[in-house]
Formats: sequence, structure tokens, C-alpha cells
Amino acid sequence: MTSTRSFQTGITHRPSAVVTVTGADDVVAALARAGHDGLAVTVHATGHGLRRPCDGGLLIDTAPMAEVTVDPVARTARAGAGATWGDVVAAAAPHGLRPPHGSAPSVGVVGYLSGGGLGLAVRADGWAADHVHAVELARAGGTVRVSAASDPRYFARLRGTGPDDGDVVTAVVVGLLGSDGLVGGGLVRVLGDADTPGDPAALHAWADWTSALPDDVTSGVSVVPYPDLPFLPAHLRGRRVLRVGVVSTGGPGRTDALLAPLRAAVAWDDDTVAPLDPRASARVYAEPEFPHAYLGDDVLVDGLDRDGLERVVSRTGPMVVTGIRHLGGRAGRAPAVADTVRGRDAAYCVNVLAPFGDDAVPTQLAWREVDDVLDGFAARATRERSHPAFRFGPHRGVPAS
Ligand SMILES: Cc1cc2nc3c(=O)[nH]c(=O)nc-3n(C[C@H](O)[C@H](O)[C@H](O)COP(=O)(O)OP(=O)(O)OC[C@H]3O[C@@H](n4cnc5c(N)ncnc54)[C@H](O)[C@@H]3O)c2cc1C
Repeated sequence: MTSTRSFQTGITHRPSAVVTVTGADDVVAALARAGHDGLAVTVHATGHGLRRPCDGGLLIDTAPMAEVTVDPVARTARAGAGATWGDVVAAAAPHGLRPPHGSAPSVGVVGYLSGGGLGLAVRADGWAADHVHAVELARAGGTVRVSAASDPRYFARLRGTGPDDGDVVTAVVVGLLGSDGLVGGGLVRVLGDADTPGDPAALHAWADWTSALPDDVTSGVSVVPYPDLPFLPAHLRGRRVLRVGVVSTGGPGRTDALLAPLRAAVAWDDDTVAPLDPRASARVYAEPEFPHAYLGDDVLVDGLDRDGLERVVSRTGPMVVTGIRHLGGRAGRAPAVADTVRGRDAAYCVNVLAPFGDDAVPTQLAWREVDDVLDGFAARATRERSHPAFRFGPHRGVPAS
């Protein structure tokens, strides 16, 4: 029995074999071998999006294929299947460029792009999938490069839905954006003790502020009732914390002017919004970078009801983390090249996560808590209902391992 390290620790792979691949040829050989032996194949990059364990099949570990090459003239990066967004950011930054990455540098390029990619500046940039130039794939019979010109239908599926069964992405060519004028950081308000209902005023202030913003400002909010655990910083332990993450492409002066009403509406405990080096962009949402067990889901909505927002800050009980990302702007416009991204008709994406997996919070209880928060937003759900990137952990009703 063997397993591969994973950001998601609530699900454990139990493959009959693991192949650690270093190039496309290795992947082709692994797929041919799996076909010969009748083994199901699972691909593992970082495990952020792990939902179903590999049970008795062949696990292909792409982590070593993390090479990133940047063409600063074409403004593209070619990222191997094992690359994370942190790898691409680091390679692009010396050229004054940035990829359309999301909130956590440890997320893998391939999994994120397959879901469409809700980037830090999604309202200015559009979905990350809009910036993909080509996807390189391995199959048991060899390799293929898919682009808008070579196979428009499959290229659309690869950007929003993911590769067909039996295909493994070996590299992606993605467009890069300029980082001039990038501003970002967080506005933090401690709402009180985690075990008493919080004041929703700061959350309402954020929601009201987003209703009239130009496309160059993207923001999201998170509400985290931190447990009283010794490994957490003292100022967070046992506290309910609201954080607004902001990324603007409009430069410091314009961003400060646009932020002024939100800065004035709430007595913020911390404000780190300032010119942003993309290499420091993890500070925008300050998400945990250590592996843990989490499950969750999301709903795409055309607006935010006040009752739903109040439920987010007033609830007590088992820990639930709520994140709301503001969409619209360029994320709401049709792409130049057809894709299958969900969320173009949504104004916000509400995602709810819960830690699970010990005696205190069994899986079913964690799902109930998540669904209880999501229900508060369901009345405004769009036709597409949810975005696949924010479904985490074991399926409802399915044991975790
Ligand atoms: C802390 C955190 C922050 C996040 N922030 C954002 C965000 O800001 N925006 C956003 O859009 N999403 C975000 N996500 C969601 C994330 O994009 C998805 O979970 C994504 O699936 C992770 O991809 P991965 O490669 O890191 O993970 P993995 O779990 O390794 O892979 C995810 C899926 O893709 C498959 N896969 C991976 N590599 C390949 C390959 N080479 N070929 C074929 N299939 C492959 C895997 O089999 C698996 O099914 C976040 C997730 C977490 C946990």
C-alpha cells in the first residue's frame, strides 16, 4: 500500500502502483502499462482538488514535471503538469509579467485551469481559461497538442470542464499579463469571539461597496471563526475574523479613491492594501498553506440577500469558513475563444468550507453545516448554480477514504 502527499488530507489514495513521471514520454508509457494491466488511472498534482481516492489503480504523480519557461516577447508561459501557480509567478515576475492565478500559490496550474480559474483579478482579466493558448496531452498512443485551431470543441472542454478520461495534461501554454499598477492586500476586521454571533455591518458594507465598482477592482470576503488552538497566532485564536481581499490593476491613486468609501464605512483592524508584487499575492487572502482535511461546495448567485450574509456572521457551532468572490466585469463577458467556464452570468461566487474528519466533526455534520450556510444564498442562484473549482472533499454521503 502506498500513498502520495496531498494538500487534502481527508482522503487517502490506496493505489496498487505509483508512477512518478518526469516527462510526457513517461506519462505515455504509464498509460500504456495501465491499459495493458487493466488499471484505472488517477492523476495527482498537488491534491488541492482531490475528491475521490485512487483505489487499487495506477496513480500518476506529476509533481516533478514542474518546469516553467517564459517567453517575455510573446508574453506566455509554458508550465509543466506539476507546476504550481507559485512556480509560474516566480518565473514571470522578473519580466514584469504575471499569470492569471488565484488566491493560493500552492494550487496546481492544470487543475485550476481545467475548472476555468477564478483569478485574483478576475474582473479585470477575465477567467484564467480565457488566457490559455494550448494544452499538451499524453495518451496511451502518444502525445497531442490541442488549441483553438487544432480542435476547437476539445479546447473548449479542456478550459472549464477538464480533460477526457484517459488523457493526461503534460503542459499548458498560458498568456501572461502586465503587473504595472497592481495593487492588493487585505482589510481585516475582528468581529468578536467565534462562539458568539458577530455584527454583520462590515459584511454588508463590503457587499454594498462592490455594487458600483469598475472592472479594474476585484475583491472577495472571507469570514473565519478561528478555533482556540495553540498553533494559531494569539490575535486570531477563538476570534471571528472578516477579511476583504482586494486586487486592483488601476494603480495606487485610483485604487485608494475607489477604496475610500469601504475604508470609511468600517473601523478596520488591519489594512495592507498597497502596491503588490505578484510574488507576495498570497497576502491578499492569507489562506492556510498547510495540508488539512476540508470539504465544501459553492453557489453562483446574481446577488447577495441580506439574510444570507447575516447567517454567515451570526452562526455559532462547528467551524465553517465562508468566502464570497465578486465576479462580473470581464468575468461576465463572452471569451474570444469558446470555453466551458461556469460563472459568466453570476455576480458572486459563494463558497463554504468546513474542516472534517475527527470525532468532533464527522463528515455528515460538516456537510450539514456547509449546506446550512449555502441555503442562505440559494434563492439567488444562477442557472449554472455552482462552479466546479470550489467543490472539495468527499461527496455527500460517501465515506472519506
Ligand atoms: C486553498 C485553496 C485555494 C484555491 N483558490 C482558488 C482560486 O483562487 N481560484 C480558483 O479557480 N480555484 C481555487 N481553488 C480550487 C482549485 O483550483 C482546484 O481545487 C483545483 O482542482 C486544484 O488543482 P490541483 O492541480 O492543485 O489539485 P489536484 O487535486 O492535484 O488536481 C485536481 C484535479 O485535476 C486532475 N488533474 C491534475 N493534474 C492533471 C493532469 N496533468 N492531467 C489530467 N488531470 C489532472 C486531478 O486528477 C484532480 O481530479 C483553490 C483551492 C484551494 C484548496
